[in-house]
Amino acid sequence: MTDLTTLTTATDAVTGRIDHHRDRLLEISHTLHANPELAFEEHDSATLVAEELRAAGFDVTVGVYGLDTAIEATYGSGDFVVAVCAEYDALPGIGHACGHNIIATAGLGAALGLAEIADAAGIRVKLLGTPAEEHGGGKVLMLREGAWEDATISLMVHGGPGTTDARCGDFTSQAVDRFKVTYTGVPAHAAAAPQNGVNALDAATVALTSIGLLRQQLDKSVRVAGVVTEGGHVTNIIPDHTEIDAEVRAFDMDVLEDAKRRVMNCFEAGALASGCSWSVVDTEPRYASLVQDPLLADAWNTALTDLGREVTAQPDSAGGSTDMGNVSQVVPSIHPMIALLGTDAPPHTTGFAAAAATPAGDDAAIVSAKGLALAAATVALTPETRDELLARQAARPAGATTVES
Ligand SMILES: [Zn+2]
Ligand SMILES: [Zn+2]
Repeated sequence: MTDLTTLTTATDAVTGRIDHHRDRLLEISHTLHANPELAFEEHDSATLVAEELRAAGFDVTVGVYGLDTAIEATYGSGDFVVAVCAEYDALPGIGHACGHNIIATAGLGAALGLAEIADAAGIRVKLLGTPAEEHGGGKVLMLREGAWEDATISLMVHGGPGTTDARCGDFTSQAVDRFKVTYTGVPAHAAAAPQNGVNALDAATVALTSIGLLRQQLDKSVRVAGVVTEGGHVTNIIPDHTEIDAEVRAFDMDVLEDAKRRVMNCFEAGALASGCSWSVVDTEPRYASLVQDPLLADAWNTALTDLGREVTAQPDSAGGSTDMGNVSQVVPSIHPMIALLGTDAPPHTTGFAAAAATPAGDDAAIVSAKGLALAAATVALTPETRDELLARQAARPAGATTVES
């Protein structure tokens, strides 16, 4: 019998298992892509991923940690717990324009590959199907319920455009606060008695104009965006109710806090100028910035190079956020990017949605399934890294992963 406790033979076993499942994995990727489901509504997607893992001998539950479309699938009984994340939510109107079908496929493939060596490598594979990454913070909600309490490490991958793969560890992601501002005024006939009205659309206009001016004074790492989701209905009635969904992002939490305070002043300015009352509520949990664990990042970069990919330094992070950031704050994690080679359309565009089901997208899914599995296998089978990561887990107080960062 082959000794799977050595990295070389484990690598062959992992990649062989993923290659064996290649056609089926890509069928799943394309099925997900053709049937995009929005945040918290990913019922068919979750079922598809779950059934595949059940058929492969995993112990599977759909509807865990308080979310109907979350999955937990485990295999093996080792003390080194590898939590692989699979996202599968899409975007309104443009389907899988963030390529989460590739993320789900890569996570599924990685879990299958790791199952091949689980017993020999002392691993417990734990695939977490994590809903609502685009909006809603599924991982944050699952963290609170203890989904990562037993995790030694956690990994996932995300697709992007490019001609080479960005070196993992060079880039991070932004923390983001999302909230809704509501202005309340007084309706009036816009021609007969406008003087009796208090115009809630004026409040929104002043606020967004103030934010536009504020941008010049903000740190260049900050992003502020807003959309008016309620702005009045007809021109001959002064709007008495408007709503703005807004978000503030920054890589550093202190920078974010300062920018948010100044953005709130702009919203207050809208209320003062128009005479409206106003209120603000958070619309989803805060996404924390991403910490790429150096041990895992090195293992990923090496694995990807060994798999024949070109890994290059790409230190400039344009921006973007992920709820994997929250996981990475409490468990050693990576969230590398894999290039859909030759694609230049950025995520959240129709061009990227199309690319997510092309041969370049398929290759990204398969190679990153292998990369994730080999990164986990490397740190689990190398005594020094295994010991260090298990020691870090042992030093983590009970409940530490459930506390918001
Ligand atoms: Zn996205
Ligand atoms: Zn995404």
